[in-house]
Amino acid sequence: MDKLEAAAGRLGIRLSQKQIEQFQTYYRELIDWNERINLTAITDYQEVQNKHFLDSLTVVLGLGNSFNSPRVIDVGAGAGFPGLPLKIALPGIRLAVLEATAKKTSFLNHLQDKLGLDGVEVVTGRAEEVAHQTQYRESFDVVLSRAMAELPVLAELCLPFVRIGGLFIAQKKGVIDAEVKNAGRAIALMGGRLREVRKIEMEELSDGRYLVIIDKIALTPPQYPRRPGMPNKRPIT
Ligand code: SAH
Repeated sequence: MDKLEAAAGRLGIRLSQKQIEQFQTYYRELIDWNERINLTAITDYQEVQNKHFLDSLTVVLGLGNSFNSPRVIDVGAGAGFPGLPLKIALPGIRLAVLEATAKKTSFLNHLQDKLGLDGVEVVTGRAEEVAHQTQYRESFDVVLSRAMAELPVLAELCLPFVRIGGLFIAQKKGVIDAEVKNAGRAIALMGGRLREVRKIEMEELSDGRYLVIIDKIALTPPQYPRRPGMPNKRPIT
């Protein structure tokens, strides 16, 4: 984990021996569970460190110093990215990980236990439904999402969770100018305002990765997100 440690350092994160061990445990459990349930196509030790762990940690570039022990939700967390690596690196955050597939949330529960993490809530459910529950709606300082959907869909699924004054950070790969432009209407409708598209400049992640950073400036109208499946079926563009 020397390279992860060094690269995290360049993001301003100093990993302790305990945190390094947590990443090792994460790797072991990911590979073990991946034989039974489909969690990741990336299994090489070095690649998992770069493309899952380090990539997850890059969201700190969007967080800045704006929040003190923020309440964070990772929407469509899958095997826990980016939420759980962030929680390992910044134990002070209060983290919810939302994932629709129960098999994956059983892995997330197991992992939380193995890693000895406090202040993690694993939620099995669909964003379309959970975003209407009062304990989750407009109640997070920061909402994260990686590799879940196109930006117009993400705006509808994720912005309802963000409190006014909070942030939505979407991790994106590849050509994104058109996607960002195409999401303009959905972002505005959900009460968001695009702050910045930030390119990740790290040699380990040189394949065109970006953070799309959106401020929440107004309440999301109560009818959003629409019922399960609709945001994907009829994206707001
Ligand atoms: N964020 C992870 C997983 C990406 S795959 C990573 O970057 O590796 C997308 C995940 O989102 C899948 O596990 C899928 O089950 C989940 N998902 C898709 N639509 C969802 C929805 N509407 N609500 C909750 N989870 C959803």
